[in-house]
Amino acid sequence: MERADVERWKSKYLESLENLERLESRWENRLDLVRRGLVRSSLAAEGNDVAVDACLVELRDILRRDDSDADLAKLIPRLERTVLDSEQRRELRTRQVAEAFAELCRLLLNLELPRELRKALKGFAKRAQAAAGQPGELPALLGEFSRLQQQALTHLQPEQPARPGLLQRLFGERGEAGPDTTAEQATPAATSEPPVATPAHTAADDVPPAVETAPRTAESASATAADPAYALPPVPEPGYSAIAPHLEATLLRLLDDLALPDSHKPQAEILRQRIQGSLNWYELVPVLDDLSVLVLALNHSGQSEFQLYLRQLNERLATFQAGLEDVHVHRQDGQTQERAFGDALRGQVNELQSEVQEATDLDSLKLSLDSRLEGLLTSLAEQQSQRETREQDAGAQLTVLTERVATMEREAQQYRGHLEEQRQKALCDPLTGLPNRAAWSERLDLEVARWQRHGGDLLLAVLDVDLFKRINDGYGHLAGDKVLKIIANELQRRLRKTDFIARFGGEEFVVLLGATPVAGAVTLIEQLRAAVAACPFHFKGERVVVTLSAGLAAFAPGEDADTVFERADQALYRAKRAGRDRLEVA
Ligand code: GH3
Ligand code: MG
Ligand code: MG
Repeated sequence: MERADVERWKSKYLESLENLERLESRWENRLDLVRRGLVRSSLAAEGNDVAVDACLVELRDILRRDDSDADLAKLIPRLERTVLDSEQRRELRTRQVAEAFAELCRLLLNLELPRELRKALKGFAKRAQAAAGQPGELPALLGEFSRLQQQALTHLQPEQPARPGLLQRLFGERGEAGPDTTAEQATPAATSEPPVATPAHTAADDVPPAVETAPRTAESASATAADPAYALPPVPEPGYSAIAPHLEATLLRLLDDLALPDSHKPQAEILRQRIQGSLNWYELVPVLDDLSVLVLALNHSGQSEFQLYLRQLNERLATFQAGLEDVHVHRQDGQTQERAFGDALRGQVNELQSEVQEATDLDSLKLSLDSRLEGLLTSLAEQQSQRETREQDAGAQLTVLTERVATMEREAQQYRGHLEEQRQKALCDPLTGLPNRAAWSERLDLEVARWQRHGGDLLLAVLDVDLFKRINDGYGHLAGDKVLKIIANELQRRLRKTDFIARFGGEEFVVLLGATPVAGAVTLIEQLRAAVAACPFHFKGERVVVTLSAGLAAFAPGEDADTVFERADQALYRAKRAGRDRLEVA
């Protein structure tokens, strides 16, 4: 080859090498762009579905590596499947949202509403069906639904000032949910004096200083994962004044309707005066407690109801006995009639015999025989039918009596069941499901009597929720009730079978521990106290700490229940003064 040729080829080769390099670098750039594009769009696509999200994370991982081909080839079909599944789930959700809207509208349409409002609701229902598929539309839909619901409610309670509902406050237009609304919504945590006490830092007293009242918000970061079972209801209860007159009238009527024994009338009179004075949320509970004591008293006089029942039973037994006598008399009647019939029969046969003996010719004999036989047959038939009627009568009477006995037995059974049910109800506190004060007295008498006979250890503890009034004041009465229920449950499930706990009243519980030395009882009550303090109550995401204080006393020889209770109560008082959230032993 010529030298010039070689040079030409060489430069051509170098040129094509350069070309190739340019191409390669352009390709690398594009690949890089595609990768970055994929990473960004995968980030943008995230947040719709957990399974898809997981695939996207993996995709980004693979893209960041250089040797991605094989992994990518494996991932892509999986991603496709996941996206498909996610799409199906989305459709299902859309359907559910649409159905939920339809149901909400249907509920409102069941009310008696003016025509325009009904029309608006129907229009909304249609639009909601169409728009339910777009998650972005949801806030607007909820806002609109809330306005319609508000209108419906305002229409139903025209005298109530229209106050935006929760949904409307959340999703309503800005113009409607102005600064006023936020002020109204202010949570207790935002008020100047937050309601719930943490355990005291001071040894002093019933008027806790401000520092004591700050809710523990340190844990609030974890509150997003808070247990809904411990959530205090976020909706504030209606003002007491809204229902006060109605409540007062109802309670007074109830009091009037109680046919109380004379012994309880003075108590009822005092209660009446308390109801007629200006009752409020907090007095309402003790008033209801006292009312229930009166109803209980009535229940004891329910014994008289039982006596009435016994009298009725007696009367029925008397009729029953009379019925039995009837049957007996019938039978005796029957026997007399049978005897008379026998006599008549014998008479006829005797007459027949003498007629046969006296007969002179065959024809007259035949004639008298015929008529005699005829007579005999007739009285036989009569006798037969009389006997049948008598038997039927007696049978019917017996059936009636048997049925009556069955009815009486059934009634007695029902009455026994009813009495037992009443007894159980009267011994159970309806809010917490724990035994109530009446049940406590019964059990205390029993245990003390047993202790007096056999000796051993018997301890009594009084537990009182700390600063409970503030929970009511800060979060509402409903929240207070929920706290009581949960605490009752926490306490009960930590006690042993042989222990006994009751709700003594309000936010106070009493515990009776048998066969337990003082040290063991202290450990147990300490566990109860710690368990309550650890309950993760929360209100709108803020942790709410609820604690209790306790006083414990052991029965000493010769002591009666009242004295021991008094000592336990004193110990409780000391625990409160010493800063609450603690146990003191008498
Ligand atoms: P302390 O730590 O000194 O015991 O303070 P406290 O606020 O718990 O004590 P106080 O006896 O002043 O208040 C008890 C409150 O408990 C007042 C009463 O209205 C409320 N309460 C009593 N029974 C119930 C109930 O069944 N439900 C609700 N929500 N509150 C109740
Ligand atoms: Mg208390
Ligand atoms: Mg109390």
